[in-house]
Amino acid sequence: MRNLSAAELIRVWEHTVHRSPVQQALGLLSAAFPEYSMDRLARLGIGQRDALLLTLRERLFGSDLDGMVVCPRCRQRIELNCKVSDLRVEPIELGAIGSGDQPITLRMEGYHVEFRIPNSLDLTSIETGADVNDARRRVLSQCIHSVVRTAEEPADAKALNDFTRLPQSLIDAIAERLAEADPQAHTRLAFSCPDCGHAWSATFDIATYVIKEIQRYVKHLLEEVHHLARGYGWREADILAMTPTRRRVYLQMLDVA
Ligand SMILES: [Zn+2]
Repeated sequence: MRNLSAAELIRVWEHTVHRSPVQQALGLLSAAFPEYSMDRLARLGIGQRDALLLTLRERLFGSDLDGMVVCPRCRQRIELNCKVSDLRVEPIELGAIGSGDQPITLRMEGYHVEFRIPNSLDLTSIETGADVNDARRRVLSQCIHSVVRTAEEPADAKALNDFTRLPQSLIDAIAERLAEADPQAHTRLAFSCPDCGHAWSATFDIATYVIKEIQRYVKHLLEEVHHLARGYGWREADILAMTPTRRRVYLQMLDVA
């Protein structure tokens, strides 16, 4: 893993801003983890991808996260304060990240299914899809290696090719096993509302959070460049090479900060 300078972050943002969120996340990871090929990053299970994003985020901005959530009962806006460690299922060993291709098996209702956890390639293929349930089914069907319909007599067992027509109960059971197998991809946070006392938990989408945070940071950097270039005539590269502290002092002198 390497540190990304302000100029590099802007470059990554610029190259991926018009692409999908999945591609933006991969672009960031590819810049920060040049030791992994893009193909390897794209084939990581979503939990491993998110664990790398958390590690990168911690390196860039520290371990405190903040944001806003809305209480589902009284609609009060509540400040979210948590640590990167609150979102991490287990510490990630950077040298030991796997492909996420290990097969998982499930036997139920006369079916024997082998499948793997979803990766970024699976998500990319459904990003333009409209219906959430359809998208979920399509991702799952891409992750299924094989389905065998095991009737009561072993001789009647037969392999199925069409994974889109599996019973809903089987699809739900596969989804449940996937959540157990890749808990980092299903990060949840517990909240309680100080106003009405309502307590709930919600999924925390790590990739969306990190991408939005970097977008805000890049916009802030470009505003600084804009003011300093206009005020002093300096080049963008020279301004970005300064420490944030030095930029702030110059901005104060321009009455901007
Ligand atoms: Zn409330």
